[in-house]
Amino acid sequence: MSDRAFQDRLNEESLWVRTAGAAPEFPALAGDADCDVAVIGAGLLGLSTALSLAEAGASVIVLEAGEPGWGSGGRNGGQVNPGLKIDPNETIRHFGEARGGRLVDFAGGVAEETFDTIRRLGIDCDASQKGWLQLAHTSRALAPLQRRAQEWQARGVAVEVLSASRLSEITGSEAYFGGILHPSGGGVHPLKLVRGLAEAAVARGAAVHGRSPVVRIVAKGGRPVLETPQGRVRAERVLVATNAYTGGQVPRLERDLLPVSTFQVASEPLPPHLAGSILPSGHHVSDTHRSLYYFRKDRDGRFLIGGRGAYKARGVEGAYAELRRVAGRIFPALAQVRWEHRWGGMVGVTEDHLPHIGEPVPGVLAAVGFNGRGLALGVALGPHLARYLAGGPERDMPLPVRPLAPIRFHGIKVAALPLAAGIYGLLDRLDGGRIA
Ligand SMILES: Cc1cc2nc3c(=O)[nH]c(=O)nc-3n(C[C@H](O)[C@H](O)[C@H](O)COP(=O)(O)OP(=O)(O)OC[C@H]3O[C@@H](n4cnc5c(N)ncnc54)[C@H](O)[C@@H]3O)c2cc1C
Repeated sequence: MSDRAFQDRLNEESLWVRTAGAAPEFPALAGDADCDVAVIGAGLLGLSTALSLAEAGASVIVLEAGEPGWGSGGRNGGQVNPGLKIDPNETIRHFGEARGGRLVDFAGGVAEETFDTIRRLGIDCDASQKGWLQLAHTSRALAPLQRRAQEWQARGVAVEVLSASRLSEITGSEAYFGGILHPSGGGVHPLKLVRGLAEAAVARGAAVHGRSPVVRIVAKGGRPVLETPQGRVRAERVLVATNAYTGGQVPRLERDLLPVSTFQVASEPLPPHLAGSILPSGHHVSDTHRSLYYFRKDRDGRFLIGGRGAYKARGVEGAYAELRRVAGRIFPALAQVRWEHRWGGMVGVTEDHLPHIGEPVPGVLAAVGFNGRGLALGVALGPHLARYLAGGPERDMPLPVRPLAPIRFHGIKVAALPLAAGIYGLLDRLDGGRIA
């Protein structure tokens, strides 16, 4: 089975696919076309950038191999989280005070900006901004969370430290040792959000084509030309927004990323007595396990939980069974519920845990490596990328545009991912918390 066929199968029982309603039609590209900017990939980043470009009056064509939202954009946990994978002080150490500080300020505001965009465009995607909790799975895991909260507070971002007893009140779980609350975080129905962005981009003049995989990029007359099975697009500039689903069309780009699998399961709508005791205030949660468990309820009161897993070692069924087991450890009452949905996808992980923006080929910009944190980051980065693609200065970008740095021993590291996931699971168990 090809990778894409495997990813198709993983999405068949997705909660989001089953509850998003009928998919709007985005016709395949047929024939030749010209535009200012062509975007490869109709996920959150590609569509947010296309929307901003169209709003600024540029001609834009988006080419998507599947349908808009086929990738992680329509499969994720729907958690609209602020911040990067690395903490504010480390970001500033990495980039220096001026650039690093601006990046931290940008990242601290991406959740708010995403909700603003949803409101401005009137996208109906079950948005709810009840706050995002990061929870410690052991007492040792608490200190780094408290430091993170202090670092955000020092930058003027309100992040609150919560005791274990306060947490058990607001989550209904006794499994955690404390945590922090980012009030700007929340959740959406991610597939509805991606489709809403695609429709908003089309309404403002962008062309969005589904079933139009870019199979080759060639240069003609100094301009990039994108070839799909039924057409060609000649553009002044190209944005590659394919993240974890990056293929071989751009030389070496694939080697910038490790594609890591993550899976989710969702219950039936919880009966009222459980819905009232499990996450009663509607928070969205992720925790400090290396396997990174994240959970929430959806609009209809289903409980969803995801985590990174070693499916190649245990099979996909093993990954789903593990998530159901973990859910029962966090909320023992979930042992009684029926699990109705399961699905998975890939996150694009970089070695420095930062997104990368670079120009691997003249005229072709790539922005990849969201490290499982690309929902709000992708939506909020779009307008910046649009300004840069329209000729704006690099210094105004929240993230620098720099040469991409392929990962050394990439093939070996990709092959070792299932082993690494297995080791993470083992270390989680050795930590001796109450869950793994
Ligand atoms: C199960 C899961 C849970 C997650 N949970 C969260 C979460 O709760 N919060 C969060 O912030 N992040 C989460 N993430 C990560 C987040 O979804 C991604 O970071 C984000 O979607 C990246 O957006 P993107 O637009 O860059 O890429 P994507 O949304 O993946 O879009 C890339 C698109 O490019 C297309 N493509 C690839 N190659 C070609 C080609 N040659 N031609 C045309 N099109 C092509 C693909 O088909 C795909 O649709 C999760 C990811 C997964 C898989």
